[in-house]
Amino acid sequence: MKKEERYKGVLDWFEANVPVAETELHYDDPYQLLIAVILSAQCTDKRVNMITPALFRDFPTAEVLAASTPEVVFEYIRSVSYPNNKSKHLVGMAKMLMADFGGVVPSDIDELQKLPGVGRKTANVIASVVYNKPAMAVDTHVFRVANRIGLTNNSKTPLETEKELVKNIPEKQIPIAHHWLILHGRYVCVARKPKCEECGLKPWCKYFLKAKI
Ligand code: SF4
Repeated sequence: MKKEERYKGVLDWFEANVPVAETELHYDDPYQLLIAVILSAQCTDKRVNMITPALFRDFPTAEVLAASTPEVVFEYIRSVSYPNNKSKHLVGMAKMLMADFGGVVPSDIDELQKLPGVGRKTANVIASVVYNKPAMAVDTHVFRVANRIGLTNNSKTPLETEKELVKNIPEKQIPIAHHWLILHGRYVCVARKPKCEECGLKPWCKYFLKAKI
């Protein structure tokens, strides 16, 4: 099957069957989303959603968070993975937001990556979800699902996957395609044993078509 045919089949299927796909993290503004995404590294969205209400209540702005300390923030986030590092990152991120960005979450990927705790994946999520930019954040689900379906050609790194997806997905579909692939990986094309029998992507999926031979 030609690559264009595979991309078209997969994207058309998602468009028809998953018209709404959004982040499962709870947030009300870009500052809150940035905090939630930093916290979600190596951690489930469900766990993050359990602790952010108190965090957002007591640190409603970057200014308030910047005036706090990692020790204080640690008590709010102790149940997520790597709370030590993440509490330092959150306070450092808030200080830099205040000092360099006037308290406003930037939209530029390079500027976002200057913030403590913000890598390329987090920067792409913010650019895409908050600013609707054609940025593709590649997490473990996107990486695995894209390889299995054959949207990427045995990509070895998240950056390779990102570049290949961005090259082949129409610009206006990139923000939602990120969520399509994440949700598909979380609930259907799961890591250990993909649920191919209930998956609508079978006609275009390299992994499934190979297994049938
Ligand atoms: S057919 Fe199977 S391997 Fe392919 S995307 Fe669906 S669940 Fe994943």
